[in-house]
Amino acid sequence: ALKGKTAVVTGSNSGIGLGVARELARAGADIMLNSFTDREEDHALAQQVAEEFGVMARYIQADMSKSADCRALIEQAGTCDILVNNAGIQHVAPIEDFPVEKWDAIVAINMSSVFHTTAVALPMMRKAGWGRVVNIASAHGLTASPFKSAYVAAKHGVVGLSKVTALETAEDPITCNAICPGYVLTPLVEAQIPDTMEKYGMGRDEVIKKVMLERQPSREFATVEQLGGTTVFLCSDAAAQITGTTISVDGGWTAL
Ligand code: NAD
Repeated sequence: ALKGKTAVVTGSNSGIGLGVARELARAGADIMLNSFTDREEDHALAQQVAEEFGVMARYIQADMSKSADCRALIEQAGTCDILVNNAGIQHVAPIEDFPVEKWDAIVAINMSSVFHTTAVALPMMRKAGWGRVVNIASAHGLTASPFKSAYVAAKHGVVGLSKVTALETAEDPITCNAICPGYVLTPLVEAQIPDTMEKYGMGRDEVIKKVMLERQPSREFATVEQLGGTTVFLCSDAAAQITGTTISVDGGWTAL
């Protein structure tokens, strides 16, 4: 269904970004993978996506903490029909102890990068006569937790920016929405399970249900495939009038 479309996914050499890129490729889109590293395995990942799904795929190194890199990523892609802003980092500390450089990095990578990539992608989408901007925000774009000041502020900012993008493209065949995941089992989260099991003297299932998924009523992780599927839906004709809103994929977190 997305044959002939090119998707740029920021922060897509692991986790949700890679999962989203794979589902877009499964739907036929050509894929531009991205992260700030430039390793052989990054480029191999693109090769793998290309071979598995029979699409064109390329890896472009660009650091989403730098405005010039964000803009260069879209320029180097050459065309951008689908823009998925996914790159993100986290740091947890009380406000008074929150390192200033962590605040700056989180605001830059998680929020400002979305402004820069969108600014370059929109003229391409208008020229192509079709476009989709999908911003991966978070349940923390709608609610808050203590000690995550920068992350919560940046994700709320992404939700706000998504609405502005939607209004500025409302009369074009372009939509912009934010997906708000709850807890997702990415390699990053998986790696925390053994330590937490030891710390609490609990089994794997107990750690997942009682410690990690305490705020997620389903007591199940969302998967990267489900986030990919939600992104593919937002790129479909059925979603052409869905713009300027959020879709929660959070097992009921924000209903609480
Ligand atoms: P992850 O660490 O697996 O993925 C983050 C990606 O961003 C990686 O590909 C990483 O290389 C990339 N990245 C980091 N810094 C970058 C930079 N300076 N420039 C370019 N790329 C950079 O984590 P994830 O869980 O897949 O997170 C992806 C997105 O989903 C983030 O925006 C995160 O806030 C959001 N999210 C995750 C969860 C969760 O539970 N895992 C929940 C809600 C929202």
